[in-house]
Parts: sequence; structure tokens; C-alpha cells
Amino acid sequence: MAPRVVVIGLASDFGCQVQMTNIEDHLLDVLGLIDLTYWQLASSGHLPAEYDVAIVEGAVTTEAHVEALRRVRETAGAVIAVGACAITGGIPAIASAGELADRYGCVYGEGGAEVACGRIAPMPVTAVIDVDYRVPGCPLDTDEFLRVLSRALQGLSGRIPEEPLCAACKTRENICFHDRGELCLGLVTRTGCGAKCVSLGRACTGCRGIAADANLDAAYALLASRGIPAEEFTRRLSLYNTLEEGCDR
Ligand code: SF4
Ligand code: SF4
Repeated sequence: MAPRVVVIGLASDFGCQVQMTNIEDHLLDVLGLIDLTYWQLASSGHLPAEYDVAIVEGAVTTEAHVEALRRVRETAGAVIAVGACAITGGIPAIASAGELADRYGCVYGEGGAEVACGRIAPMPVTAVIDVDYRVPGCPLDTDEFLRVLSRALQGLSGRIPEEPLCAACKTRENICFHDRGELCLGLVTRTGCGAKCVSLGRACTGCRGIAADANLDAAYALLASRGIPAEEFTRRLSLYNTLEEGCDR
């Protein structure tokens, strides 16, 4: 029997699920290997009671999300977290700073705090349950997603790179943004994206999360030597990494 796969979205813009639909060349190959029993973006049905692999996109922002995730963990043999929202909290996690209810008040005005009923400070999927595989990025990289899904279907380990992006960037013979006096977060950001943004002339924004092997002290020292204040580095890093260790200086 083909593995039963479900795709679930929590708090997100569904951008990673949309990216999955863009794997046109390979999607049919993949669909031939799996029983795609539920895809939130494309299904009108309900999440089935049983499945083998759960792909989860989005951040956790409600108690209902927490309960749903715990059920997912009990049900699925393998859980794949996809996208920055699910792995670092991503952009939704920016709202976790300060009083959550105050933020609803800013948007909805007086009494707006009541809208926050049942809401919790945004956090990643990985803060609620153990996941077996991660596909970082905002949005996910389709090649990496297919590689990780393939490994999950074969029961192989799910290691992702933990080195910063700079080595991959150098192999593309890019001129470093810092040599031009511009801030680039590639020096602390997890590699694995093929250095696409920097090769296209856009500084890295850190969407793949802070690499475990990153030397944050050295990064802050380097930027200070280039006249870039630590506050600016932290502010940029906070876009996708508000809750990450090292983003609190
Ligand atoms: S990681 Fe980015 S593209 Fe994916 S759901 Fe979150 S905001 Fe959207
Ligand atoms: S800091 Fe950015 S531009 Fe410089 S080498 Fe690293 S990834 Fe490339």
C-alpha cells in the first residue's frame, strides 16, 4: 500500500503549499508513489483519522493548533515541518514579542483584545512536537522538499545542513555584500538554498534560520568593524528568527 500523506496548514499564508504546486515537473512522479489523502490547500474534504506522513506548514497561534499537532504526532509515523513559520516561527512569531492582546488592540481598536480569545503567542511547530524532518525557507525550496519527502518515504534520516551560507555563496563567485558596505545575513544563516538570493543580487534575509554552526560573536564583531550597529543586525535577523537563540542581543 502506498504511504498515506496529508498536508496540513496552520497559521500561514499558504505560500509553502503554493510552492509545492509549482513542482510541476516532478509532482506527478511523487503522486505516483504516495496516496495523497488530504491536502488542505487543494482538498474540500477533512483530515482523515489515519495517515503515515504529515507535512505541516505554518506557525502555532491557537490552543486548537496545539491540540491538533499533538494528534498529528500521535497519528503520523513521520512528521515533516515545512517553511520558516513551522520551523522558527517565521514572520508570525514577530507578534510573540510584547503583549499579544495589545497587538490585537492596535489592529481592531478598543475591545480588540477580546479578538485574541483562544490565541497564544505564535511559536513554531517544532516548539510543540518533535518533528522528523524539516524543510526550511520562506518559502520552501522545492528541490529540497522533494529530497526530504523522498527520504521520509524511504525511512531515511532527515539531516539538514547546519553550516552558514557563505561557503555556497563563494562557490558561485559572488562579491560579498559586506565588501560593498551592505548587510547580508548569509554569514549566520543555514545553507541549503543554493545561494539563490545572493546570486541574484539580493542580500540574504535569514529565512532558513540561524545555522547551528554559525559563529554569532564573530558575525557581530565583523559587522561592528564595518560600521553596522548590532541593533541593525538583530533587527534584520528578527524578521524570521525572533524566537531563535542568538537573536536577543
Ligand atoms: S514560510 Fe513563508 S511562504 Fe511558507 S507559509 Fe510561512 S510565510 Fe508563507
Ligand atoms: S555574507 Fe552574504 S554575500 Fe557575503 S559571502 Fe556570506 S552569503 Fe555571500
